[in-house]
Amino acid sequence: MIGFNHALVGALIGKFLPLPVAIPLAIISHFCLDALPHYGLPNHTRDASKFWKILFIADFFATAGLIIPAVVSHHYAVLTCGILAVIPDFVWVIRFLRTRSFNMNDNKSRYATWHAAIQHYERPWGIWIELPLAVVLLSVFYRAL
Ligand SMILES: [Zn+2]
Repeated sequence: MIGFNHALVGALIGKFLPLPVAIPLAIISHFCLDALPHYGLPNHTRDASKFWKILFIADFFATAGLIIPAVVSHHYAVLTCGILAVIPDFVWVIRFLRTRSFNMNDNKSRYATWHAAIQHYERPWGIWIELPLAVVLLSVFYRAL
């Protein structure tokens, strides 16, 4: 699941639930979303895909951009939960920075192995789930702030 959708779900959890409940739920939401059908390419094809790289970069900046409305509107629970919902994917960002590859096979840690395994329904057609979901979540996010 793209970071943008993870962050928006976490942010909405932070908006509507009390913080002691929202914090663990924001983290748990990450893995629930990863278990649903979403966009992805076979690991061995990612490095050759321009679309994958463009989406990765656009997702990074779009997700980081969500910090601005949360801070400007002083919704720090929204900010906190949005960040917590994205943090589980930092294992992939760190791995990319180390290896310069989007291939997520051959994980060294049990966490990364499990995190990759729950994304069983990662498919190219998942983009048609992720993009409409992003539009709906962004709409709800801005109405909620
Ligand atoms: Zn993930």
